[in-house]
Amino acid sequence: MKRAYNFNAGPSALPYEVLQTAQAELLDFKGSGMSVMELSHRSKEYDAVHEEAQALLRELLAIPNNYDVLFLQGGASLQFSMVPMNFLGDDQVANYVLTGSWSDKALKEAKKVGQTHIAASTKESKYRSIPSIEEIKLSNNPAYLHITSNNTIYGTQWHDFPSFENVDLIADMSSDILSRQFDVEKFSLFYAGAQKNLGPSGVTVVVLKKDLLARIPENLATMLDYRTHVDSNSLYNTPPTFGIYMLSLVLNWVKSQGGVAKIQALNEQKASLLYNTIDESNGFYSAHALVGSRSNMNVTFTLPNEDLTKAFLAEAKQAGFVGLGGHRSIGGCRASIYNAVPLETCEALRDFMISFKAKN
Ligand SMILES: *Cc1c(COP(=O)(O)O)cnc(C)c1O
Repeated sequence: MKRAYNFNAGPSALPYEVLQTAQAELLDFKGSGMSVMELSHRSKEYDAVHEEAQALLRELLAIPNNYDVLFLQGGASLQFSMVPMNFLGDDQVANYVLTGSWSDKALKEAKKVGQTHIAASTKESKYRSIPSIEEIKLSNNPAYLHITSNNTIYGTQWHDFPSFENVDLIADMSSDILSRQFDVEKFSLFYAGAQKNLGPSGVTVVVLKKDLLARIPENLATMLDYRTHVDSNSLYNTPPTFGIYMLSLVLNWVKSQGGVAKIQALNEQKASLLYNTIDESNGFYSAHALVGSRSNMNVTFTLPNEDLTKAFLAEAKQAGFVGLGGHRSIGGCRASIYNAVPLETCEALRDFMISFKAKN
């Protein structure tokens, strides 16, 4: 069997060992005679999976006890709506930093709920960078400040998080959660669709501070009210049980690799391998993101012209590389190098980039 050099942006690569464990347990999960998919979500076997996934996430990210960990559905995209529905009060203003398409989409949903304000934006400069903290100008009476920690499409990433007194910081961490260490207490809420760094699509992780719950209005639909999921431990209705099982395997894998600190060091090594190749190419390859804002998860770059880009992507495909085309909205190339993408896969891409340049 041949495994692809998988650079998909999401859904994306999963650790080989995780897939092997899932395969071995597929027909008979821990002697139950059933697949995890066939277990009742109220059974003790499933409950152990659910609890383990929560406990491991708490351990790996050092999440304090005054935060809840939720497993929801609807993707990060539903969080774009749930955040303002739950936390944007009538007389308040939701503040957004625009750093790419996903933050734009998050803002769009908040506008449907109430007053919004763009606290900073790098749209004018084609989202090549993250604004400096000094550039962020909050509105009066902010309900919260929303950021996108890693911009999957443009390949930029926040390396220092903003912090304003008495303003709740909320982050979409879909494409870099668990890729690096950060101080959870800087955030009041963060969320991530699982399909980049955490597991398969279908489960969305939400981590929120308990004292936020008092702000939720009374009239929300049950499923859209965070309290429903906090009160039922994410078991109000049937959760995506197989996705949460896969999440538990991925979290165990991260732990077995030495935890987030080790994964972070490896991610930095993988990313510098590719950025160095770009920077040392005398302009043959150019990075979309400016130095200082570059993402360690999504490396976006272009070639001197459209024909060379096409040839590069076609030859790369021939050579077994998958998912290197840039997002349809910006074109170019993108290598998504999430946690589960091995160093060897990045080395293979580096070698390919060097030899493609030499031939062209
Ligand atoms: C992929 C992605 C999303 C969309 O997630 P869904 O789970 O498909 O809704 C949102 N934000 C960011 C930063 C992403 O990378």
